[in-house]
Amino acid sequence: MIGLVSATAAGARASARLAEAWPARARVYEGPVADAVRRAFGECSGVVCFLAAGATVRLLAPLLGDKESDPGVVCVDEASRYAVALVGGHGGGANALAREVAEVLGAEAVVTTATDAVSVPGLDTLGFPVEGDVAGVSRAVLDGEPVALEAELAWPLPALPDHVRPGHVRSADGGRTGAPQEASQEGRGGVIRVSDRAVEPGAGEVVLRPPSLVVGVGASKDAPAEEVTGLVREALRDAGLSALSVAELATVDAKADEPGIVAAAEAFGVPLVTYAADELAAVTVPNPSDAPLDAVGTPSVAEAAALVRGGELLVPKRKSAPEGRAAMATCAVVRRPARGRLAVVGLGPGARDLVTPRARDELRRASVLVGLDQYVDQIRDLLRPGTRILESGLGAEEERARTAVDEARKGQAVALIGSGDAGVYAMASPALAEAGADIDVVGVPGVTAALAAGAILGAPLGHDHVSISLSDLHTPWEVIERRVRAAAESDLVVTFYNPRSRGRDWQLPKALGILAGHRAAHTPVGVVRNASRADESSRLTTLAALDPATVDMMTVVTVGNTATREIAGRMVTPRGYRWQSPADGGQGK
Ligand code: SAH
Repeated sequence: MIGLVSATAAGARASARLAEAWPARARVYEGPVADAVRRAFGECSGVVCFLAAGATVRLLAPLLGDKESDPGVVCVDEASRYAVALVGGHGGGANALAREVAEVLGAEAVVTTATDAVSVPGLDTLGFPVEGDVAGVSRAVLDGEPVALEAELAWPLPALPDHVRPGHVRSADGGRTGAPQEASQEGRGGVIRVSDRAVEPGAGEVVLRPPSLVVGVGASKDAPAEEVTGLVREALRDAGLSALSVAELATVDAKADEPGIVAAAEAFGVPLVTYAADELAAVTVPNPSDAPLDAVGTPSVAEAAALVRGGELLVPKRKSAPEGRAAMATCAVVRRPARGRLAVVGLGPGARDLVTPRARDELRRASVLVGLDQYVDQIRDLLRPGTRILESGLGAEEERARTAVDEARKGQAVALIGSGDAGVYAMASPALAEAGADIDVVGVPGVTAALAAGAILGAPLGHDHVSISLSDLHTPWEVIERRVRAAAESDLVVTFYNPRSRGRDWQLPKALGILAGHRAAHTPVGVVRNASRADESSRLTTLAALDPATVDMMTVVTVGNTATREIAGRMVTPRGYRWQSPADGGQGK
């Protein structure tokens, strides 16, 4: 139960909002505040005080016992701007409570405990399932004690601080199973083990579970879910493997909707991937048979589906063993080769709040960051301590792309960053041109300059539009000109990227001239410089009036189509649907 205590009218209103949001979880404590705080502290697992921090501290002081058993206390200011985790940040859950309160009230959570403040990883936030002494080993990582990293699998991990050092690496088959072990000497503060085996974490040890296992499954029609799920559980258990490392279930296309298989994937909380029968038929397997060949057109489903992307067969085909009838399910388990990971991350146009939460997560997921120095500066504070930064100056794009891919090939978790969207006139294409099927690639979209500028100008992109880069460094001018002409003829709204630089000054006037051949002189043109950055500026002008000298490489230029209008100082391109035609007065229904 969360106890709510307030003293003022504003506090009571905010308290009521929380109570309404958490009907079964929150209880309002009425009466004199000192008494209310005392009762709430004694009865609840968490307390939210709508009081000044000072007042809350004075009321709490005589009540404090020890941090393991005291409830977490959050205090919220009179204007509901901040939810401060005051005591019991970790043990009492106040940090989490502050975030929840902030969410409901639209406030900012203020968290001051060390792991969160210096952004050293809580080991449960690395993006992998984790078992064992998470609090203890996280503490050791935070306190700078030596922690041994024992990676049985070279899986791409996020950055860890310097004092987390590789201990001796155990081979996957040479280790113990299930036997606890004291933290080794080189890791006095604890051990972080990376394993897909069913090892029990010992004292001072955590086990990270990489998504390394692929389970191939086959099932005859209407095989019961328990039979399929039970078979997979047994196979993993008998092979000494952890279910937490199962990355996916795999089968043949024809079984994509087989209820028992679908249910098994759900039971393990993993995706079900399926392959065409002929693709599976081409995989060499130890135990082919005629039954699946007749039924679905491949001599192996379970083994072939598990092996089709390569890897080591840990559990050859095995059948379920239901009592009193024939088996209806098969499975096989493969350890897939460790794969490096390349995240291509768009950082948005510049403003911090236009960096998406997913982009932030990917930056924190990386152990190596590759990018242009000026973009690295934008997000340096978001990285985990220990992240290796490979930054370079302007140009050198191919080299940056190659570096990023090479690091991923070595098994690292790499983030390659770009401004706006990293796929728009940016690093994604040179990088993916280098990358083979041997690494995982994750793209994170970002707000590209045309969209950032569009939002500043009004609604210039309300109908069909195109982006054209005027940089003829990599593209012959004739090609660019042909595209500008096509855009002019088809009445597309055009956003020019790379519009003008010191050495390239005639291209923009030339392109505008081509558009002017098909659009009126008063066609609105928006010029936005440094969208969403500190020195942002924007202007709305017309095709005839635009002075190209006011445009540089920090700028995008958006030219309206023949329907674009300036309305109340904003650039608006009508959607142009029939219901918006002049006949009905342009009123949408
Ligand atoms: N990947 C980037 C574009 C890179 S090309 C994106 O998606 O936005 C570089 C050009 O983008 C610049 O010359 C400029 O025309 C435009 N640009 C990038 N960021 C901008 C910003 N914040 N404001 C205005 N233009 C920008």
